Amino acid sequence: MSHYQVVKGARDIFPDEMVQWKYVEEVVSRLAVTYGFSEIRTPVFEYTELFQRSIGASTDIVGKEMFSFQPDPGGRSITLRPEMTAGVMRAVLQKNLLAASPVQKLYYISELFRKERPQAGRQRQFSQFGAELLGASSPAAVAEVIIFMMHVFESLGLKGLRLRINTLGNRDDRQKYREALRAYLAPSFDRLDEASRERFEKNPLRILDSKNPEMQDIVAGAPKLRDYLSSDAVDDFEKVLAYLSGRGIDFQIDHLLVRGLDYYSYTAFEVTSSELGAQDALGGGGRYDSLALELGSPSEVPAAGFAVGMERLLIAMQKQGLFQQQAPEGPSVFVVVQQPEHFDRAFEIAGKLRRSGISTVIDLARRSMKAQLREANRMHAASALFVGGDELASGLYALKNLVSSSQETFSLDGVVTFLQQQTPVNGNLR
Ligand code: AMP
Repeated sequence: MSHYQVVKGARDIFPDEMVQWKYVEEVVSRLAVTYGFSEIRTPVFEYTELFQRSIGASTDIVGKEMFSFQPDPGGRSITLRPEMTAGVMRAVLQKNLLAASPVQKLYYISELFRKERPQAGRQRQFSQFGAELLGASSPAAVAEVIIFMMHVFESLGLKGLRLRINTLGNRDDRQKYREALRAYLAPSFDRLDEASRERFEKNPLRILDSKNPEMQDIVAGAPKLRDYLSSDAVDDFEKVLAYLSGRGIDFQIDHLLVRGLDYYSYTAFEVTSSELGAQDALGGGGRYDSLALELGSPSEVPAAGFAVGMERLLIAMQKQGLFQQQAPEGPSVFVVVQQPEHFDRAFEIAGKLRRSGISTVIDLARRSMKAQLREANRMHAASALFVGGDELASGLYALKNLVSSSQETFSLDGVVTFLQQQTPVNGNLR
């Protein structure tokens, strides 16, 4: 066993689990294309101000969870990205993509970093898939990102999900509500927990998000955001809900849902899974028209997006048995070297098969023939090609089907033709 351990809060993904990741990523990418989203990759780090400015200085993420460092003495601080939205918006604004095409639809599958206390479903390095739809403010745009997200879950076969949704109104609505909320909370300030006191000035809406049971009666009596919504916000929300209903998506309106980040307006949503225990949030998102303004754009850029935690998605799928336990697909052929002196010729033959697109393994550990065949069976190789002195002299090779044990003799070109006619090798995603 190695002296070294993986860093706490991070994890390795080995080939057997990698098959599951690839499968989920493939479904995400395929549906993204179906919905007209194109993939974007941004750097894993950004200048720290980007996150301070966009996510908001009063949030937990910026306040305590960022991995920030200063690579050059006296230089600017940079931060490992704790979420994707800010980086994507930065990239789109920097490249002025919206001038070329006024609606940008982007998706990603990316690693993120947050300095949280590691526990089940909470890591310091984790991944999300998500989408950002920039430049369209209509309720249809928000509905589209939600429908895309739910379609991914549906395609994966995931059950037991709960979609909660709310509207946070426009900026004026929230300003009025914030004042009302502070006026309500001020007399009970001493009874607020520490986190809520910190949020009181800058981000009182987040107090409603508190999971602390002692805060629940205070939260329950608070004025309701829905009483402060303009008719514009209400109409917008109803249209979003109508699109979801039209698509047959179940949701629950949750007036307390505010999400953690400063930049949301209008619709916000969250999906939880009954499989996930304490960390039951699978993903969420909403509309964030004012983010571009925060990042120096001269005007708002209507925007909506979501992010789903890949690790939690995989945990939920594993619990529901959605990955069929299949023997991993083996190579088409295992080249069995009969005598060690023939290894180099056999190695050339393996090369020829591979150049012909046939997945081929040769025993680099140079074990006995018996051990090679054992290895071929262990890897679920479909066939074994025997290479020895007689074969090399005659140019005729025995190819044994390792499932049926039947054997045929071919020239080397014949082997290639025969194996190429066998079923394709890389179809096994599940
Ligand atoms: P957020 O950006 O905080 O809304 O997170 C969106 C989703 O990402 C969550 O619902 C989780 O599925 C996932 N997620 C967030 N933080 C973590 C973490 N520290 N470890 C694993 N998954 C996370």
